[in-house]
Amino acid sequence: MPDVLDVAIVGAGFGGLHAIHHLREKGYNVHAYDAAGDVGGTWYWNRYPGAVVDIESIEYSFSFSDEIQQEWNWKRRYSTRDELMEYINWVADKLDLRRSITFNTRISSAVFDEAANLWSLTTDKGDVIKAHYCIMATGFLSAPNEPRFEGLADFKGETYHSAKWPKNKVDFSGKRVGIIGVGSSGIQIIPIVAEEAKHLTVFQRTPVFAVPLRNGPIDEEFAKEVKANYPEWRRREREESFGGWISVNKKPVELVTELCLESTPEQRRALYEDRYKNGGLAIYNNYPDLYTNREANDTLVEFLHEKIRERIKDPELAEKLLPRGFPVLAKRLCCDTNYYEAYNRDNVSLVDVKANPIERFTEKGVVVAGVEHELDAVIFATGFDALTGALSRMDICGLGGETLKEHWAEGAKTTLGLMIHNFPNMFILGGPGSPVPLFQPVLLGEDQTRWIGDCLAYMDKHGYARIDATQAAEEKWVKACTDAVNATLFPLAQSWYMGANVPGKTRIGLCYFGGITNYWAACNSAARNGYEGFDLSK
Ligand code: NAP
Repeated sequence: MPDVLDVAIVGAGFGGLHAIHHLREKGYNVHAYDAAGDVGGTWYWNRYPGAVVDIESIEYSFSFSDEIQQEWNWKRRYSTRDELMEYINWVADKLDLRRSITFNTRISSAVFDEAANLWSLTTDKGDVIKAHYCIMATGFLSAPNEPRFEGLADFKGETYHSAKWPKNKVDFSGKRVGIIGVGSSGIQIIPIVAEEAKHLTVFQRTPVFAVPLRNGPIDEEFAKEVKANYPEWRRREREESFGGWISVNKKPVELVTELCLESTPEQRRALYEDRYKNGGLAIYNNYPDLYTNREANDTLVEFLHEKIRERIKDPELAEKLLPRGFPVLAKRLCCDTNYYEAYNRDNVSLVDVKANPIERFTEKGVVVAGVEHELDAVIFATGFDALTGALSRMDICGLGGETLKEHWAEGAKTTLGLMIHNFPNMFILGGPGSPVPLFQPVLLGEDQTRWIGDCLAYMDKHGYARIDATQAAEEKWVKACTDAVNATLFPLAQSWYMGANVPGKTRIGLCYFGGITNYWAACNSAARNGYEGFDLSK
């Protein structure tokens, strides 16, 4: 490896892997670092029982190589975590990516040397890596959120976090298990652990909207059809979709342009049933006013309440599991396999920790409202310090000694979700200010990396050594993000999109909700105009 890399990449998940390949192909000297023992990013760590992706495999996959698209055959309609890991490993081998990655190595700090225009990355082993550019492919859902419960250290039972699951199978048989958290991870874990444990106690703070995933073996004919038309599928995913995927009931679906409030109840019902029949995230492809108008949104709330009620035998319990008081889709929709049915079992009970939050842990279990729930094991499915956590947990220091923690003290700020003012030559994939939570992250990562690659080529061509987002451009983009989110119902829910799930985190729209078309229009216009909004210097 040379003394100074052209590009250091932090993270070897989907984004980092494609960045290695793309930039290597462009002739750059690239090396990546990952704290994990192998490729996979967040999928490497999230080995919890039931882990499965909720965008169809045929779409949640790399698009940059037709050879890869054609050669790989998916087994499941939605890949399990293990199948995804097989795929990621296969891609890494095929493209010989591992020779450009150092595993088991966490980057603990990154300091910009202003005189030399170089990043110095220090690893947890004390090694220092120097690079002209640095790409943070650290993932938007990678830094676990681990609430500090009083007395947790006294608890004598086993503890697990969904995002740091052990490699070996955990055996819950015969055990009294508690689970805290009913987001996408928790609702996947619950039905599986319920089958194994002696008793499962679910500590629920906010009920979620969950819809059936309807997973199963992939339909070979459908997969063949998509493969035969991949260029058009990928084009539509990028240009004419809600979230970077278009498959609904085995057909590429159009965006809905009619309004909910201008449709008849019968038309609405037909659309909602169609999306529900597909399962998974299809419900997002829906009337646009569901995202902006509470009255419209309520019609979908009512529909989903009805569907949830149908799945739970005890009507009193069903009422406790119904999400209320915030718009549907304003928190990430969850996709389940037998989640609500798990509550029909005798060995599953629900404890509401909204009205009475968890008081403390004891040696034997968890105390809520003065009642001690005795447990042998507790699972924390408490999510992530999303979008910012992976970066703000690293010591990153930019121009004038400013730290990223200082720069983001009042909330994350970026330009186009790609760069941060005063942190030159550092790019982010799927960062705050990008459309990432609402857009298929594999495709977004590919496109952002292409933007970065083009930017580096421009820098080389013109002899520039430093690129930094201007303060004005950053302020403009933060305002664009704020205006976009404020035009929607998203701020009405306490979600990780808004930074509301981590105690003490600034509540701010963390992503760009202005639509993928507007996002790329802004990115491409900046590039076309000689990287307008960025200071370039020699
Ligand atoms: P999450 O959606 O943030 O859910 C965390 C859960 O923990 C919530 O129920 C939350 O309650 C609860 N919680 C947090 N702190 C708590 C506390 N102090 N006391 C009680 N409850 C507490 O996290 P996640 O389930 O890991 O999912 C995060 C995201 O990862 C998803 O939205 C999705 O984008 C992605 N994901 C996707 C898949 C998939 O593709 N199938 C699977 C897993 C994850 P509140 O709601 O009240 O905050």
